[in-house]
Amino acid sequence: MPFPDSIPHPTVSQVKIIENKTNFPISWLNKQGYCEYGIFLENVRQIKTAPTAAMVKGVKEHAVLEENFKEEAVPATFDEMLESSKTGELLSREFPVVSANYGIRGFIDEIWMTPDEFIIIDDKPGVIPYYSSINQVYGYCLAFKDMVGEDRQIVASLRERGTDNIFWASYFDAKAEKSIIGLIDHVHDLISGNTEFGSTDNPNKCRKCRFNKICDRRV
Ligand code: SF4
Repeated sequence: MPFPDSIPHPTVSQVKIIENKTNFPISWLNKQGYCEYGIFLENVRQIKTAPTAAMVKGVKEHAVLEENFKEEAVPATFDEMLESSKTGELLSREFPVVSANYGIRGFIDEIWMTPDEFIIIDDKPGVIPYYSSINQVYGYCLAFKDMVGEDRQIVASLRERGTDNIFWASYFDAKAEKSIIGLIDHVHDLISGNTEFGSTDNPNKCRKCRFNKICDRRV
């Protein structure tokens, strides 16, 4: 499913303008929880750093899962998938989602579609359900819900990467939806300059951060 027409944001990398609204990657909802200033350094100041070992490992594991899936996958359009999942179960990987409404976009690691519910899975290294990880998967749920326009239940889930271990799951209910919309609005305020980027006060985060050698807010 192709993304709608977009133009790059004039000053902030990775941000696009889709249907006259700024649109940012849903993965930013995870980065925001780690440290907003990292988003600023990477995308406003556009500082380049080498990827961390964890990032390289994650990309490799992702590629293996994707290859395994492709060997047995049957191509189908989004509408075909929605229709056939009303009577049977199906699975999709690297599923593209975009919401011009909320100004977010991304790729869902895996979706299980059943006649009763959609289970949205985001793969993570480790088994700790950080708020930032939960916010990211809620962002996927919101974009997906905006696209499907039907009221099948949506379940947000976090899975330990490379395993079948779903270590956290929750219904994407009205409370979750309200809270993630509030966070998305906050990120749009950061992009527009209405709100200043905050930074962590946790030295452990700074120690592991890939910007720590150049960051002027490092603690
Ligand atoms: S070094 Fe610390 S304050 Fe700076 S971007 Fe990284 S986590 Fe944030």
